[in-house]
Amino acid sequence: MATERTLSIIKPDATRRNLTGKINAKFEDAGLRIVAQKRIHLTKAQAGEFYKVHAARPFYDELTTFMASEPVVVQVLEGESAIQKNRDVMGATNPADAAPGTIRAEFAESVGENSVHGSDAPETAKEEISFFFSGLELVG
Ligand code: ADP
Ligand code: MG
Repeated sequence: MATERTLSIIKPDATRRNLTGKINAKFEDAGLRIVAQKRIHLTKAQAGEFYKVHAARPFYDELTTFMASEPVVVQVLEGESAIQKNRDVMGATNPADAAPGTIRAEFAESVGENSVHGSDAPETAKEEISFFFSGLELVG
C-alpha cells in the first residue's frame, strides 16, 4: 500500500446536472483528497488527444463529442491506493453493472454518459495528470 495520485474527470452529463459537489463528497467520504481541481471546457481535439487510446473503438467519435459538449471538472485525487480506490468509488463503466452506492450506479445516465473518468494504472495516472496539470498546481 502506498500513497498515490490519480486523475479524475467529472464528465459533462454530471456538471450539467450540478452534481460536482455530490460526486466530490463520494471521493472525500472514501478517504481520497482532492489536491488539484479545475473546471474547463475541452475542445473536441483535446478530448480526442486525451482519449487517443480509444481512437479505433466504434464509440470514439461519440465519446469525444460528448466530452467537448459542456464543461468538465478535472481533478487529482490523492490517497492510499488512490488509483484502485477511485475505480471502486466510480463503479463499472456501464451503470447497469455498477455496484450500489458507486458514483456510476447513482448518477450515470448510460455507458457513454457515465459521469466520471478515472485513471486505470500508475503509468496512465502519471500521463493523465500531466496532460491537465503542472506540478505547481498540485497542492497536497
Ligand atoms: P472506463 O471509463 O470505465 O475506464 P473505458 O476506458 O473502457 O471505461 O472507456 C472510456 C469511456 O468510453 C467510458 O467511460 C465511456 O464514457 C465510453 N464508452 C466505453 N464503452 C462504451 C460503449 N460501449 N458505448 C459508448 N461509450 C462507451
Ligand atoms: Mg478507461
